[in-house]
Amino acid sequence: MSEIAENLKRIQERIAAAAVKAGRSPEDVKLVAATKMNDADRVREAIAAGLRAAGENRVQEMLDKNALGAYEGAELHFIGHLQKNKVKNVVGLCSLIESADSPELLSAISKKAESMGICQNVLIEVNIGGETAKSGVSPDKIDELLETAAGLKGISVNGLMTIPPFSDKIVETRNYFDKMYKLFIDITAKKYDNINMRFLSMGMSGDFEEAIYAGANIVRVGSAIFGARHYS
Ligand SMILES: *Cc1c(COP(=O)(O)O)cnc(C)c1O
Repeated sequence: MSEIAENLKRIQERIAAAAVKAGRSPEDVKLVAATKMNDADRVREAIAAGLRAAGENRVQEMLDKNALGAYEGAELHFIGHLQKNKVKNVVGLCSLIESADSPELLSAISKKAESMGICQNVLIEVNIGGETAKSGVSPDKIDELLETAAGLKGISVNGLMTIPPFSDKIVETRNYFDKMYKLFIDITAKKYDNINMRFLSMGMSGDFEEAIYAGANIVRVGSAIFGARHYS
């Protein structure tokens, strides 16, 4: 077995075990492999080994790899910061845009989707740690954003996504995951129009099990599957 296939199998087993430990079923948790900086061949290798969903951060990298057929046989999610002028390249290509975080971006996505005659599924990215340099809507602005979303016909909000502040203390990370779960439950209870809270996307290579314990049902894992990324 190749290294990618072996890593993938191990991660799938750990996800299943974490789901069971959290009293849920393994099928309840979706693995999205963060494929940034891995070329089309490596993405295809993961899909051949059983990967069902890939997530990309950069529009151009995604378009280049998509042109090579990198994602055939898998779902494609967009998980990075999305600029309004790139919306046209992402809508319809990605089954889920996980990183919608402003009324302007939601409107642009909706407008493009409507022009294509489709409804684009999105998650709202939340800046749960209130970090100044990070994308995501702040928790106290989320109701306002959902009210905007409720009036947009070209999108359907499917849930929330977050990247918590970096910490090497798992209790601190867990605290942010718990806050996200509470937000997720609160919003679900409010029953906004056009909001179908199905997904809570949080947890990466170093903390996906903790995220599952806290209620995540999408985890985004990169380096634990593909190895460390080499930025040069
Ligand atoms: C890269 C990335 C991940 C995965 O990070 P790893 O630590 O490599 O698992 C998850 N989510 C987003 C948005 C990413 O950009």
